[in-house]
Amino acid sequence: MELLLIKYASEIFLKGLNRGRFEKKLKENMKNVLKDEEYRFYEDQNRWFIAGENLETIREKIRKVFGVIEVCTVVQTERNLEKIQELALSALQAYPAGTTFKVVTKRADKNFPMDSMEVSRQVGAYLLKNAPGYSVEIKSPQAFIDVEIREHAYVYMARVKGIGGMPYGINGSTMLMLSGGIDSPVAGFLLAKRGIEVHGVYYHSHPYTSERAKDKVKELAAILAGYTGKFHLHVVPFTEIQMAIMDQCPENELTIIMRRFMMMCACALAKKYNIHSVSTGESVGQVASQTMEALVVSDEASDRPVFRPLVAMDKVDIMEISQNIGTYETSILPYEDCCTIFVPKHPVTKPKLEYIKKHEAVLPVEELVEKAIAGEEVFVL
Ligand code: ATP
Ligand code: MG
Repeated sequence: MELLLIKYASEIFLKGLNRGRFEKKLKENMKNVLKDEEYRFYEDQNRWFIAGENLETIREKIRKVFGVIEVCTVVQTERNLEKIQELALSALQAYPAGTTFKVVTKRADKNFPMDSMEVSRQVGAYLLKNAPGYSVEIKSPQAFIDVEIREHAYVYMARVKGIGGMPYGINGSTMLMLSGGIDSPVAGFLLAKRGIEVHGVYYHSHPYTSERAKDKVKELAAILAGYTGKFHLHVVPFTEIQMAIMDQCPENELTIIMRRFMMMCACALAKKYNIHSVSTGESVGQVASQTMEALVVSDEASDRPVFRPLVAMDKVDIMEISQNIGTYETSILPYEDCCTIFVPKHPVTKPKLEYIKKHEAVLPVEELVEKAIAGEEVFVL
């Protein structure tokens, strides 16, 4: 019988007493992505297996679950050397003639009469005899023929890499500022991959930014939901705040004051929904508003930790991740960003907190934030 064997991140093994919690979450998340599939999940001595009709579809879904590092297609058989040898032969013959191989056996059940080395030797000898043209190579073989002996015996037929990371939702939550750009969806992906539950907030400057810009962010949120299972996007009306800043604050400080407002709104939402932290897609030095000084001044407006998973990454590397996770094509669609509409000609790059706070204080800060949050629209993707 053909099955999938699911391997999860070794970090999960290191969690000692938390291991149970991690495994439970990971199982829950796998169950979630498989809700439309017919399958059976079972365990054999700490290994996880899935049996089902559409193994290929199931495999593609499971490999994208955070925490899964590998999904192997295996065949289950009796604990009988001849059966194992026959299966190993077909596993080897899936490789082109001339491939060098090594048999690796794990005997988890010590009641099996032969030890691992002995099984590998016997299977290897059988393969050499029955598969002319293939040869054994111990140090760096081109193919591994894996055998596991548990309550049943298993022979590996193929393996695909999983996405890695930690089970989604195991490591607290964050309110991510999600724009239509390249960076913030990547930041969201990385946070989610590390097991953090990600919620999104998009600041919408109607009518300066169009419905299309908003739809684009919804589309990006939907792509992220493909990894996380579900994604809550909060769309917050931001025009009034921007107008107030334009009217009453120094022109060269528009951007930094706006960023502080974004921070305050994200924190207010985080508080409203019991979310631990806030996050952005900023990378130090990338643009004038992302100098270390500016990041420090915007952080001061936050009442909780601010995470910037891209802070030390180069744009090209961010773009590569964006392509790999499928957000790039959407991110590069033309759109108006609320930040590009209200850009000062000469933005301060080394803002001084003292002045910024003084200039910002002429505005009814709390009232503006409260009103913006009260006007939020929530989309569940
Ligand atoms: P991105 O590609 O994520 O838009 P960027 O390089 O264009 O980033 P900025 O536009 O300066 O940089 O934005 C920096 C960060 O601020 C973004 O990564 C995002 O987290 C947040 N941000 C910017 N504009 C918005 C917006 N309209 N709504 C929500 N968050 C935003
Ligand atoms: Mg942007």
